Amino acid sequence: MTSAQVQIPAFVGGEKKNLIGGRWVPAASGETIDAINPATGAPIATIAASGPADVDAAVAAARAAFEGEWSRWTPHERRKLILRVHDVLLDNFEELATIETLDMGAPLARTRGLKEWTSQVLQFYAGQTALAGSATPAQNSLPGDFLSLKYLAPVGVVGGVIPWNGPLIGLWWIFGPALATGCTAVLKPAEDASLSVLRVAELMQEAGVPDGVINVVTGYGAQAGAALAEHPGVDRIAFTGSVGTAQSIVRASAGNLKRLQLELGGKSPDIVFADADLDKAVPGAAMGVFTNTGQVCVAGTRILVERSIHDEFVARLGEFTKTVRVGDGLDPQSQLGPLISQRQLERVRKYIEIGSGEARLVAGGERIGGDKSAGFYIEPTVFANAHNDMVIAREEIFGPVATVIPFDTHDEAIAIANDTPYGLAGGLWTQNLGTAHKASQALHAGTIWVNCYGVLDPSIGFGGTKQSGYGWKGGREHVEGYLYPKAVYLNLD
Ligand code: NAP
Ligand code: MG
Repeated sequence: MTSAQVQIPAFVGGEKKNLIGGRWVPAASGETIDAINPATGAPIATIAASGPADVDAAVAAARAAFEGEWSRWTPHERRKLILRVHDVLLDNFEELATIETLDMGAPLARTRGLKEWTSQVLQFYAGQTALAGSATPAQNSLPGDFLSLKYLAPVGVVGGVIPWNGPLIGLWWIFGPALATGCTAVLKPAEDASLSVLRVAELMQEAGVPDGVINVVTGYGAQAGAALAEHPGVDRIAFTGSVGTAQSIVRASAGNLKRLQLELGGKSPDIVFADADLDKAVPGAAMGVFTNTGQVCVAGTRILVERSIHDEFVARLGEFTKTVRVGDGLDPQSQLGPLISQRQLERVRKYIEIGSGEARLVAGGERIGGDKSAGFYIEPTVFANAHNDMVIAREEIFGPVATVIPFDTHDEAIAIANDTPYGLAGGLWTQNLGTAHKASQALHAGTIWVNCYGVLDPSIGFGGTKQSGYGWKGGREHVEGYLYPKAVYLNLD
């Protein structure tokens, strides 16, 4: 089937509005932003360019919902609601996958694959609804006869700010725990990829999510995002994106001391020991960098290879890289789509230029179709014989660029791996159990993959250390982040 045969959803096109208190409304200013298809560079719809007035209205709607009827929903009612959302979304997933592909470029092979993941993530949060409002009798040592109870209460209005690299994944880290706990949410997706979020919000309304419980306000980060981060009516911010933006969110949150959960970038190490099974390690490490055209926070972009196998590994990695099919995401043959935007294309090309002056270019490096191309395509690229102090080994590129660094001893591999301001993830390829165990203990990162890369179970979740942020997404800890402990003492005398 060619791209021409994929049905373009009727949702794509025209003017998309914000969802505030159950109503679809344009930005107060009336301004809009073009939503661009990165495969063609062409506009496919417009979204609202929201500002502080729109954020104000959305936060007010979320506050009213939090304090209204929604606060009396039982855990069972919230669970049934999440399962209804689950069913409606899965019934419409082909449409959602196509919208995601058109708006942010990822191939259908990837976006369709998110159906199973969406099912798992929603079922996970459906299973967590009993935590909010739960109480445990706590022993006390008070004189007299006291009953003391420790409750878990919902924190209130949650502001979510997510990036463009996977909105169909990122939105559940906000809406999932909000629905599970009885919080309400205002979500600001990235202006480069808002359409799938808006369609999901519409479907959530259809599934019966009450007005004001979830709200979506689109627009630029510096306006809509910043207004949300500093809004005194927001109790918690959940943010995914860059370190620089996180720092401004931390500052903006100081006004009312918002709770924060930050998941930022990485420069994750993927260590290939000499005893690794290269038939698995070569494609595994390659796709650990190239998946989603390298626009993945956990990408294993520093591939550390033991020197005795370095040359063989690099040769095989180069060969593999040349076989990866890059093209329009609507073509089912495409393994990688374009980068998200012209800006990101320029950023990645700048790093490739720097890398060419620092290390040995083994594969890729060129814009596909040259500067005449309307789409934002770049070849998957490999640099070898690199050092950890090079720019391409230190800075997050957020493109399909692998940097291979040789090492001599296991201790040296760990030292290089940990020599980064980030601590999001890491990979290990070895057939030795002792090596795997010792190295996974020694790496400073929130997730370690052994003989695999990038797998994620929403019931376990993930998060970072160091400048990759704090707070966990997924798993029980995530739900607990939407709750605060509350002690109640009852004098029984
Ligand atoms: P970013 O600026 O941090 O964007 C993430 C989100 O924050 C977007 O929704 C953005 O809105 C919003 N935002 C921007 N400025 C804001 C502010 N002052 N207050 C509140 N929200 C704000 O990241 P980016 O510019 O898209 O990408 C730059 C780099 O960040 C990437 O190259 C990559 O290194 C890193 N990144 C990491 C992840 C990750 O998953 N960890 C994801 C994306 C990017 P708008 O985009 O609509 O302006
Ligand atoms: Mg777009």
